[in-house]
Amino acid sequence: MTAVETIPFVDLATQYRSIQSDIDAAMAAVLSRGDFILGQDVRLFEQEFAAYCGTSHCLGVASGTDALRLALQACGIGRGDEVITTAHTFIATTLAIMEAGATPVLVDCDPEYGLIDVTKIAAAITPRTKAILPVHLYGQPADMDPILEIARAHSLAVIEDACQAHGAFYKGRRCGSLGDIAAFSFYPGKNLGAYGDGGAVTTGRADLADKVTLLRNYGQRVKYEHLEKGGNSRLDTIQAAILRVKLRHLDAWNAARQRAAAAYNRALADLSVGLPHVVPWGTHVFHLYVVRTNDRAGLQQRLDAAKSQHGIHYPIPVHRQKAMAELGYAEGAFPVAEALAPSILSLPMFPELSDAQIARVAAAIAGT
Ligand SMILES: *Cc1c(COP(=O)(O)O)cnc(C)c1O
Repeated sequence: MTAVETIPFVDLATQYRSIQSDIDAAMAAVLSRGDFILGQDVRLFEQEFAAYCGTSHCLGVASGTDALRLALQACGIGRGDEVITTAHTFIATTLAIMEAGATPVLVDCDPEYGLIDVTKIAAAITPRTKAILPVHLYGQPADMDPILEIARAHSLAVIEDACQAHGAFYKGRRCGSLGDIAAFSFYPGKNLGAYGDGGAVTTGRADLADKVTLLRNYGQRVKYEHLEKGGNSRLDTIQAAILRVKLRHLDAWNAARQRAAAAYNRALADLSVGLPHVVPWGTHVFHLYVVRTNDRAGLQQRLDAAKSQHGIHYPIPVHRQKAMAELGYAEGAFPVAEALAPSILSLPMFPELSDAQIARVAAAIAGT
């Protein structure tokens, strides 16, 4: 009997093999040209990704966290300002707000999708509020129309955290084109992932694009002429070359994730786990396939025994993290997010996930 192979949570090696000759050639071309910093592939990727998102500007930056911070700074947000976001997100969302010098003001998520509860936003607005920062969590869009309406009424910026939603649609428009400005991460495991760190800001506003252009590159438009105190946060040319190759596959890969999610839904339908609900206002690109259970430890044990990896996104809500203690939120502040944290479980999800792998995960969950 041959040993059973582990089902990985994401499988970047299999994906690399499927595009290896294109990736290798794209990387070799950068090495031959030697344009490592803001080279031609960065410029071309920015054009291609802006077009893909249906917006006019894209700026490649060093990470998703930097993309969020630079988007905030471009909107003029800093010390003394408040930014409203969700308690159910990756901590980078609130860390970026604090890096910009502002204060995150959290609101709870809705129980059905785990996205920012738009009915709770208005009550969180104070005279210091400068922006609303919805997170398109797990691969599906927050309900942007009511968010944009509240923002308009109070003259607030809307900054999308699209780090998990490359290619997802909201009412026919792509995430990243819905607010004033948006942030993407190209962390390797994201739906569009580099082979290292990377990120991008997208925006339809030329003034914000110009600001990010300066902020990511020492405040200079022309070398050694520093118009303001920018930093160094640029997308590597090699990563941009890789992303250009992978962008051509993104829609097919997202469709493969949706097929895998549908297969999971069928395989798990009669079991006692809660399946992910898809929003009626958009598409879900399944960055993560997250089920709910009241026996998470048991499920984890059975998946371990079946040699399937799994994850939790996220085990501790943002406001209960030690690093966020200064925000002063008590236990019970966001009951929906707090109820989700102990009951969610992320199953393996990547475009190349096979029917056999899905069947093995489902059998493990069923305990058969
Ligand atoms: C990945 C992620 C980020 C941060 O991106 P990095 O590239 O890792 O800095 C921010 N927000 C969300 C929701 C993410 O999933």
